[in-house]
Amino acid sequence: MNTSIETQLIDGKAFAEKMTKEVAAQVAELQQTTGVTPGLAVILVGNDPASEVYVRNKTKQTHKVGMRSFMHLLPETTTQQELLTLIQRLNNDPDIHGILVQLPLPKHLDSDPIIQAILPEKDVDGLTAYNAGKLTLGHTDGFIPCTPLGCLLLLQQELSNLRGLNALVIGASNLMGKPMAQLLLNQGCTVTIAHIDTRNTEELARQADILIVATGCKELVKGSWVKKGAVIIDVGINRITTEENKVKLVGDVAFHETLGIASKITPVPGGVGPVTISCLLYNALSAAKKKK
Ligand code: NAD
Repeated sequence: MNTSIETQLIDGKAFAEKMTKEVAAQVAELQQTTGVTPGLAVILVGNDPASEVYVRNKTKQTHKVGMRSFMHLLPETTTQQELLTLIQRLNNDPDIHGILVQLPLPKHLDSDPIIQAILPEKDVDGLTAYNAGKLTLGHTDGFIPCTPLGCLLLLQQELSNLRGLNALVIGASNLMGKPMAQLLLNQGCTVTIAHIDTRNTEELARQADILIVATGCKELVKGSWVKKGAVIIDVGINRITTEENKVKLVGDVAFHETLGIASKITPVPGGVGPVTISCLLYNALSAAKKKK
């Protein structure tokens, strides 16, 4: 019998608010006990409107928890060498505990050497080879990329035990899909990764107890792809223009089609996005604690 179930929304905003409050309390305690105020440097090159919004939000939240924010807004014409020189300067600055380069960078810049130039102990986005290696080896003292960390925390809130569950991660970027798969593997999930060249993504999705989607393809995952009772984490953020000429954000999952099939799903907006920022603040706090 094909009965529908009640789908619960995973409230990322509420989760993020709670986490941000905890970080703020720990920042205050760190200041009181050691005199150290965590400092986070964010570098934005060019004027991509979506990146500008993310960076503004990050700065606002950084101030809100009592950390120092060092914003570097660089012109589109910035060269590879100029960016590397700035990263060296930030690496050597004792007031800065975390460095984040907002991605994507303009096309003329080669992002990998820029990311790898960040000192691993200041790499709060967890993208250096050192931190990626720590995650792969299951070491718990490295930095985990903020978005997959946020997805994992939401899953742990919603599911008492991830061990043995089938997880499909759709999207295999260094920023999101790969570390996400590794985190789930470390939790005992049976993990499959699908990407642009995967031939049977839909079929794989139907077997997944946990479905994490990070592709940048709006509403890629249809209701018919979803196993009944699955938990869905929709990471995608896609801007669309509605018939009323309004800009609206949608995810990589056809949200309404999954209602009655999935047991839980993160909405877009209000799901993963706010938790990503809280995880960044958490990582910056950890970086400052390690330095104290
Ligand atoms: P990316 O472009 O670096 O990687 C996309 C991945 O998806 C690639 O591995 C590609 O092979 C795969 N892919 C693309 N089309 C596919 C398809 N049709 N079927 C299967 N796989 C496909 O993107 P990213 O940086 O990983 O980001 C992915 C999405 O997540 C974007 O929408 C981005 O805006 C969003 N995002 C959200 C947050 C957040 O905080 N909520 C953070 C980071 C990224």
